[in-house]
Amino acid sequence: MTASKRTAQATNESLHRIFTIAEAPDSTLGRIEQEMSHNLAGFLNNHIVASKNALTDIEQDFICPRIPEQPEFVSDHMHHLLDKLVAQSVHTASPSFIGHMTSALPSFILPLSKLMVGLNQNLVKVETSKAFTPLERQVLGMMHNLVYQEGGDFYQAWMHSAQHSLGAFCSGGTVANITALWVARNKLLKAQGNFNGISRSGLFSALQHYGYQGLAILVSERGHYSLKKSADILGLGQDSVIAIETDENNKINCQQLAKKCQQLAAQNIKVLAIVGVAGTTETGNVDPLDEMADIAEKYQCHFHVDAAWGGATLLSNKHRGLLAGIERADSVTIDAHKQMYVPMGAGVVLFKDPASVADIEHHAEYILRQGSKDLGSHTLEGSRPGMAMLVYASLHIISRPGYEMLINQAIEKAEYFADIINQHEDFELITEPELCLLTYRYVPKSVQTLLAHAGDEQQAELNMLLGKLTKFIQKRQREDGRSFVSRTRIKVGRYNDEKVIVFRVVLANPLTTKQNLRDILAEQCLLAQESENFLPQLLAAVKA
Ligand SMILES: *Cc1c(COP(=O)(O)O)cnc(C)c1O
Repeated sequence: MTASKRTAQATNESLHRIFTIAEAPDSTLGRIEQEMSHNLAGFLNNHIVASKNALTDIEQDFICPRIPEQPEFVSDHMHHLLDKLVAQSVHTASPSFIGHMTSALPSFILPLSKLMVGLNQNLVKVETSKAFTPLERQVLGMMHNLVYQEGGDFYQAWMHSAQHSLGAFCSGGTVANITALWVARNKLLKAQGNFNGISRSGLFSALQHYGYQGLAILVSERGHYSLKKSADILGLGQDSVIAIETDENNKINCQQLAKKCQQLAAQNIKVLAIVGVAGTTETGNVDPLDEMADIAEKYQCHFHVDAAWGGATLLSNKHRGLLAGIERADSVTIDAHKQMYVPMGAGVVLFKDPASVADIEHHAEYILRQGSKDLGSHTLEGSRPGMAMLVYASLHIISRPGYEMLINQAIEKAEYFADIINQHEDFELITEPELCLLTYRYVPKSVQTLLAHAGDEQQAELNMLLGKLTKFIQKRQREDGRSFVSRTRIKVGRYNDEKVIVFRVVLANPLTTKQNLRDILAEQCLLAQESENFLPQLLAAVKA
């Protein structure tokens, strides 16, 4: 046998082996698995090193475009992954990582995810997801019930109906929002007379047929950027998303909204959808949904609620009232991978009317046949994993009261953090928490006093410097790797609607303690002292 033949044979044997035989428990992979399943938090603490490597340095580890010609042993490859990938990852589960909506996961998620991957069901069609399709439909029913609370007969009738869907499971809030607006668009511009509907004939013919000058999507200026993406993809163009002013609490100004509807009607521009936000991404505020529903009803347009972040609040009897009016929405987006503690890739869009999805129905000859119960006939995405199982399991294992506890505690923690910011003389709370988000910044007491009496010009000057200081502190804190808050730029009423740079905090991790929060403020005070330009300039302004 020649050498190359022997290599080929060996490769063939090991290929067969990786599909049939598990790695030994004492191999590198086996040990990692044990460590992870024994104590995930400990595993992450051990293997993620608070690396100060710059992104550009890390890029050097991921620069080779060559697909390997030599197979590697799993264990050797695991060492490579641990060194280059895991070690330099972001510790999103850390109790001091309070800057984004991604946080710790319950421990049961790990083995369940493995089961999900092992089963490798494809939810696009029943032929690859028997049992998972009914399960996903039930989960959609549970989430629908959470929002709309229709009676048992309703769910009995529609949950498993081939022609209906209570919603659609998808990878996240972005696709959920696109799907909702896709339904709204196709419903508005449906077939009529000899016009075949937008779905077949496209936007140009649709506008001509219906005689509209254009379409608009109205949302507050705090709306998520995925709405612009949706407008882009749906052929409306990003500029058709019209931002309506918010009040001092970051909620849409309904007078302005109604006025805009009036103006657009006069210009023969049809409002495709009014979008309410339940939990703005930057500040966590909820729009006055009931009032918005009235306006949507008056102008006969689709009412969508983007509750990607805040939707889980409905699980708390104490706080669900904050979202009053959501049950009047034609469609609702909720991300289970945010406040429901499921890993990423779990968004849902729910439809008040289970027949809504008829407007986005697609069929093919080999799957998704007419009358089949294939979920793929009503989803934007094709092949999809069985993420619904993780939502299903979480709803059973944690249960509604368990979720209520998590939601209530997160809000209490945000209130506590707001309190200590208010009590600390060198910090300024910018937005009060309504859900578990808040924004604030570091402003030395003397600068606060000066700001309070400053004229417009000086105020702008000070805010510019404070913005640079905030940015400096946030970056340093991220680089030091002990803790993390994010930052954003928002319009602030008390500064004549000037946009200021602020720290943004999301208190979703159940393991974050009050001590963690006090430590974060203390660390920020110290980091501020390290600023060689901005802090001295601010203090000089006070002296002048
Ligand atoms: C997170 C979020 C989205 C986008 O969701 P993805 O899951 O990131 O696609 C949309 N809207 C709001 C309000 C969000 O908070």
